[in-house]
Amino acid sequence: NADAAMYYAKERGRNDYYFFDSAMNANAHQQFLLQQDLGYALERGELALHYQPKYGAQDGQVVGVEALLRWQHPVHGAISPASFLPLAEKTRLIIPIGNWVIDEACRQMRIWLAAGHDQWSLAVNLSTIQLASPGLLGVVEEALHRHRLEAHHLTLEITESTAMENAEESLLILNRLAELGVKISIDDFGTGYSSLLYLKRFPANELKIDKGFVTSLGQTGEDAAIVSAIIALGHTLGMRIVAEGVETAQQRALLVRLGCDTLQGYLLGRPMPADNLLAHCTGHEALPA
Ligand code: C2E
Ligand code: MG
Ligand code: MG
Ligand code: MG
Repeated sequence: NADAAMYYAKERGRNDYYFFDSAMNANAHQQFLLQQDLGYALERGELALHYQPKYGAQDGQVVGVEALLRWQHPVHGAISPASFLPLAEKTRLIIPIGNWVIDEACRQMRIWLAAGHDQWSLAVNLSTIQLASPGLLGVVEEALHRHRLEAHHLTLEITESTAMENAEESLLILNRLAELGVKISIDDFGTGYSSLLYLKRFPANELKIDKGFVTSLGQTGEDAAIVSAIIALGHTLGMRIVAEGVETAQQRALLVRLGCDTLQGYLLGRPMPADNLLAHCTGHEALPA
């Protein structure tokens, strides 16, 4: 049974996510139960947002925060978005959940703006289903209006794969979002199959180099060459370049040297509850870069 399986998973010293990652792949019944629970997660208040800062590569100043969804399951504990997002997409629960994420992140951003952080950009991730949903534009406009944010304070992160999946439709919706004044970021860049023609046409302000490339930076010359090429490509197209998954000082130094604009990763700051963020930033901004 589920508890026994989780118990053994923990006994074996696996991380919290192990049980569900395997259960979701292996056991249709488990998946069904989890799906049912996910349907109630929102109204039961089990979903929360954590925020991970983005830092200017040159001066180490916080330039924005990315909202990352967390599900605290009453029995199974913290479940990774990698485990439940596919389920949320399959059931289309990602629509109400995603709408909540947009509203909740904007609510929080209003508080940070009031605290004087009006240079920050708030980033929210969007999945494929969300991007294709006809209500998206209205939901974004409404959240901005409700929390009195200017559109440029919001960045929407769309993975390269999502953007390219139906590139012509993506282009239409991204253009409409950009017309609102919302910023667009292409996430996990380098993992999908990009059409450079579309990349050129997307109204994107930011390109996030996938952490896969960052992780192996410094180990082989190849990754540095690829990162360098991505940075050159992005800059040519007028985009800022973010490196995600920066974990070591060596990676940071190399990324700065290669001309990366913005850094994000455990080295600089992990995703954290909103309440911890201002204290983290105060401490961080007091430090030299
Ligand atoms: P992402 O948008 O590419 O976010 C980066 C992921 O890498 C996050 O995982 C973050 O916690 C993790 N990360 C950050 N720095 C480091 C690092 O230095 N090392 C390592 N190893 N990992 C790092 P997380 O929070 O588990 O989210 C996974 C993915 O789930 C996200 O990838 C995003 O695509 C998706 N996601 C998260 N929140 C939402 C949401 O509210 N809506 C939608 N649609 N998708 C979301
Ligand atoms: Mg992201
Ligand atoms: Mg990413
Ligand atoms: Mg990623």
